[in-house]
Amino acid sequence: MATSVKLSTGAQMPIVGLGTWKSPPGKVSEAVKAAISAGYRHIDGAYVYQNEVEVGEGIAAAIKDGVVKREDLFIVSKLWCTFHDKSIVRQGCEKTLSDLKLDYLDLYLMHWPMGLKAGSDLFPTDSAGDSISDNSDFLDTWEGMEELVDAGLVKAIGISNFNQDQIERILNKPGLKYKPATNQVECHPFLTQDKLISYCHSKGISVTAYSPLGSPDRPWAKPDDPSLLEHPSIKAIADKYKKTPAQVLIRFHIERSVIVIPKSITPHRIQENFQVFDFQLNEDDMKTILGFNRNWRVCPFLINKKHKDYPFQGEF
Ligand code: NDP
Repeated sequence: MATSVKLSTGAQMPIVGLGTWKSPPGKVSEAVKAAISAGYRHIDGAYVYQNEVEVGEGIAAAIKDGVVKREDLFIVSKLWCTFHDKSIVRQGCEKTLSDLKLDYLDLYLMHWPMGLKAGSDLFPTDSAGDSISDNSDFLDTWEGMEELVDAGLVKAIGISNFNQDQIERILNKPGLKYKPATNQVECHPFLTQDKLISYCHSKGISVTAYSPLGSPDRPWAKPDDPSLLEHPSIKAIADKYKKTPAQVLIRFHIERSVIVIPKSITPHRIQENFQVFDFQLNEDDMKTILGFNRNWRVCPFLINKKHKDYPFQGEF
């Protein structure tokens, strides 16, 4: 059973990784150590999560304890929107590398297509509550990221939260040196992303699914929001295989050759979320789960809805 996805660079990306958004400093080092002990080799982080020092400590501890070598790990981070100006892309990457205490990343993603005003404010907004753009063009940002590959700071580059038109723009960029290795997007049974996944795969771009469990700890969750982990049909499928709803929600992506990055800081859940290679969902299960699509987003990032590069306007 495939436990990794081959990227266009030739590298193998482990199909299950540990998410770290909202994992508090003070908890995330232990979570990273627990994950590596449980068999995870892929950690998904980002500068904007503000916990990369502690993520790095967890990685360093696992290496020091002899559990794993650096080259066995696949470490992902993301360029935040306030570093889109081509002149500061390298600075954004170097800050992440120094926080993580690593010499290189396996994959570096442009976190969003939208550039925001550079500076210490991670979410610069105007008096109306709308984000302040830096007026950059993500094609220039991409060139800055290509330079990181050539400088040996990152092995591969990719994108996140890009829609089809935006991906097309990158692929058609004159002088494109490296195409995106992955597009990391929200994906789960309430947002199945059929068209975007087919499009990316047809272009040799892998897809990584974020918020696979529906992100129940997202800060803006409301009591009436739909819950994937509590969904009766997901529970029924889980019972059939003597698995948990979380394991079904994770396995759903593996069946589609989509990389998946569930977040947890709870050791027994971290282990549970990796016990997904000893069962398979059949075609009927997949049809049932795909039928739950309602184009519901955990991360609409609405302060950017007036941004020229806001990705969620078109069909997909
Ligand atoms: P997830 O869908 O992974 O859900 C995380 C929540 O589920 C936490 O509350 C966690 O609790 C809980 N949980 C984890 N495992 C289980 C389990 N087995 N049973 C019950 N509950 C469980 O949400 P995220 O939004 O965090 O998405 C995953 C990752 O994707 C992020 O952490 C980040 O790395 C990435 N991401 C990327 C984005 C982007 O823009 N590129 C945007 C959003 C996410 P606890 O931790 O307390 O155990």
